[in-house]
Amino acid sequence: MNYYSLNKTAPNSSFKDAVIKGLAPDKGLYFPESITALPRSFFDKIDVLSYEDIAFECIKQFVSPDIPESILKKIIEDTLSFDFPIVEINKDISTLELFHGPTMAFKDVGARFMARCLEYFNEEKTNEVTVLVATSGDTGGAVANGFLGVKGVNVVILYPSGKVSDIQEKQLTTLKKNITALEVDGVFDDCQDMVKRAFLDEKLTSKMQLTSANSINVARWLPQMFYFFFAYKQLHKTHKNIVFSVPSGNFGNICAGMMAQQLGLPIHHFIASNNENNVVTEYLTTQLYQPKPSIQTISNAMDVGNPSNFIRIQEIYKNDFEALKKNLSSYSFSDEETREALKELYNESSYIADPHGAVGYLGCKEYLRSNQDAHCVFLETAHPTKFLDVVEDVIRENIDLPPQIAAVMDKKKRSIHISSYNELRDFLLSRI
Ligand SMILES: *Cc1c(COP(=O)(O)O)cnc(C)c1O
Repeated sequence: MNYYSLNKTAPNSSFKDAVIKGLAPDKGLYFPESITALPRSFFDKIDVLSYEDIAFECIKQFVSPDIPESILKKIIEDTLSFDFPIVEINKDISTLELFHGPTMAFKDVGARFMARCLEYFNEEKTNEVTVLVATSGDTGGAVANGFLGVKGVNVVILYPSGKVSDIQEKQLTTLKKNITALEVDGVFDDCQDMVKRAFLDEKLTSKMQLTSANSINVARWLPQMFYFFFAYKQLHKTHKNIVFSVPSGNFGNICAGMMAQQLGLPIHHFIASNNENNVVTEYLTTQLYQPKPSIQTISNAMDVGNPSNFIRIQEIYKNDFEALKKNLSSYSFSDEETREALKELYNESSYIADPHGAVGYLGCKEYLRSNQDAHCVFLETAHPTKFLDVVEDVIRENIDLPPQIAAVMDKKKRSIHISSYNELRDFLLSRI
């Protein structure tokens, strides 16, 4: 598969080059040249296929010929070493739990898949890369863990000092080996700006191959298609019209769901559930796309004022507003409503959600008010203990730490403080 840049002024690129570069030379996002729907026979036998088989069929066309089939099978097997259960909330609503991976965030799957692709590409030791990530919390942990010990890849994570939760900080700073955590005196936007400057800094990029590990990278983005197939496998016998409510920030996850639909997965409708960062909710009402500075909320992994994958969604629907609107609804909810939803889920369904999942649940409820003939699945994107303060405060119960989390809490934090771009640059150059 070749990929073109959505800015349309860079040459097309192989999967391998698209993964190593992250972003095209014209700063556009990569998008696959074609999408071939899976055959009817695949859907007829989905009940007997394993998660690995399903994932293999989904992603094969997008990585071929750069990754041979036998290697791809191994990468998938290593990536999907945990479960993706559906839990019924009530007769109209279920949740797909995506937090059973090593860092208990849904980003584990994409991070692990991408890491293993890069490892394969570096087999001849000619493609050593440095992955540079800015994180407001969850991405950093999943990337750090997914890339730990992967040969030929160094990971440098920037996080805002004092602005991530204790659990998240431990997940970022206790791993050693090829992972370095840089603790930035500033806020998330400062970390993000430093990363962007590094990518544009030719003195750096002429000396080292830098890449990103957020959902702009096709190897992080596309494996998220798997989730929608896994939910379908578990639900299609009992429910006809399946609708997904996706708690969205950069819109990578929901956009992967739309790719799954392009592969022929019978998804009836998508709901982009947002916190008060509501650019897309507004767009669907006004047809005006107006990025804004992000607003801080209790579902902070979705505090995004200009979702980077929105342009990919526009590409899928060929910029046809009506076609998009037929397939996508979007609602925005306040922190107050999110807290109420956490409480309601706990009291009425004995389910402990995290704030992001709770926003997804609210999206389901809003949609079902005017669309009775559907079963709505919200994606539960993080384990509630990742947002312990909020969740315990609302449900008034203590939650036990799961073993993956408890294991990192006793480890020693290691980070390097930086406060300016020059310090980041000096650090990177010192590592060559
Ligand atoms: C990243 C993240 C999201 C948002 O996903 P996007 O693909 O950026 O829309 C939602 N919930 C959690 C917990 C996350 O970490």
